[in-house]
Amino acid sequence: TRRFDVVIAGGGAAGIATAASLLKRRPGTTVAIIDPATEHYYQPGWTLVGAGVFTPEQTRRSEVTLIPQAANWIRETVTGFDPEHNQVRLGDGSSVEYTTLVVALGIKLDWAGIEGLVDTLGKNGVTSNYRYDLAPYTWKLVQGLNSGTAIFTQPPMPIKCAGAPQKAAYLSCDAWRRRGVKDAISVEFDTCTPGLFGVAAFVPALMAYIRRYNIAFNPKTRLVKVDGASRIATFEKTTDSGTETIERKFDMLHVVPPQAPPDVVRDSKLADAAGWVSVDPTTLRHTAYANVFALGDCAGTSNAKTAAAVRKQAPVVAYNVAATLDHRAVGAEYDGYGACPLTVERGKIVLAEFAYNGALTPTLPKWLLDGQKPTWLAWFLKEKIMPLLYWDFMLRGREIMVKPKVKA
Ligand code: FAD
Repeated sequence: TRRFDVVIAGGGAAGIATAASLLKRRPGTTVAIIDPATEHYYQPGWTLVGAGVFTPEQTRRSEVTLIPQAANWIRETVTGFDPEHNQVRLGDGSSVEYTTLVVALGIKLDWAGIEGLVDTLGKNGVTSNYRYDLAPYTWKLVQGLNSGTAIFTQPPMPIKCAGAPQKAAYLSCDAWRRRGVKDAISVEFDTCTPGLFGVAAFVPALMAYIRRYNIAFNPKTRLVKVDGASRIATFEKTTDSGTETIERKFDMLHVVPPQAPPDVVRDSKLADAAGWVSVDPTTLRHTAYANVFALGDCAGTSNAKTAAAVRKQAPVVAYNVAATLDHRAVGAEYDGYGACPLTVERGKIVLAEFAYNGALTPTLPKWLLDGQKPTWLAWFLKEKIMPLLYWDFMLRGREIMVKPKVKA
């Protein structure tokens, strides 16, 4: 059995960022990253692919160019965790052994969780920005629609980038408005959540756009079935008196799939009651196994599941993993920061930044960028700066503005 100081399960945003940060902090550490994927995606860019701003290729790079030189890439699937014996099982039947483990497997998109959806995705007007190959279809549909009904849906929480379902609605409406066809298209946003956004401070700015685009906002409404051929979406709406079933005809349907912890995590000893990796929200260390850490979408923490959160979590985990290897205390602390750039129109964003319990944590001073208002500066950051920050800083372990807070 191969043995490493650190085994990282998953080479997405969180896995690569942690490996890079760790190798900078503690050169000479033996690190293995386990991920079968040969391509790596900048998923936050998919919202802009769906709006015709980015090409799909701008959001994709080959994994081999991102794995840090000093790390070992094991191109296998993680099939099991054995934290009692410090081992991870792989798809080829072998195991790897670790001194410390970092779990960064992301979130599972449960496309099959909506009846009929899988058969009609990518045709019959049914699309989703949650897949690389489908985001361009969103833009194609937006360009092709001149009248009719467009429906945008959001599944139950938690999901990655909770704002993404409504971002798709706003950017589509903006494109229709600019083309002069908006009044001929009736738009609805159906969400399982009781409100538009989880942090109250950002709701007024978003509600203003719901009104501006004349979007019918339907809370507590769950998409349960899609009949692509006849273009009918079926919803269940929770009311005071029970559940009501509603059928709607659509010309365009943008679906965000239900989301869940990865099966391999849920079925392991690492999982909490809901199936996510059970970690301390501050140190990101496992609640039962002191040499196990988790970050990113698979972690059982209440922050917004975003790449922005990963940017702050990775240095914390890297610091605490290094401390564990050196028999020091895990002193680095994560405050729950996450960010959701809500693209309310082309050229303007409401930049929601917040930490645990909805505490507002703006990066820039309010006079420069007021996150509770739509600003062009936030759009500029999203379009020009954040991709750069992701590829060339976060994934390379270059940490600007993310010094982890360390307890003495
Ligand atoms: P991922 O980056 O998804 O990586 C998970 C990795 O694990 C993958 O490489 C996968 O191949 C690997 N893996 C899975 N299962 C296994 C297995 N069994 N064995 C081995 N490897 C495995 N975030 C923002 O900050 N701002 C935004 O505006 C934003 N917008 C978004 C819009 C959309 C449409 C989407 C889909 C996401 C958006 N996000 C945004 C969220 C962001 O992309 C994720 O939060 C981030 O990628 C999480 O990183 P991660 O490493 O946890 O998961």
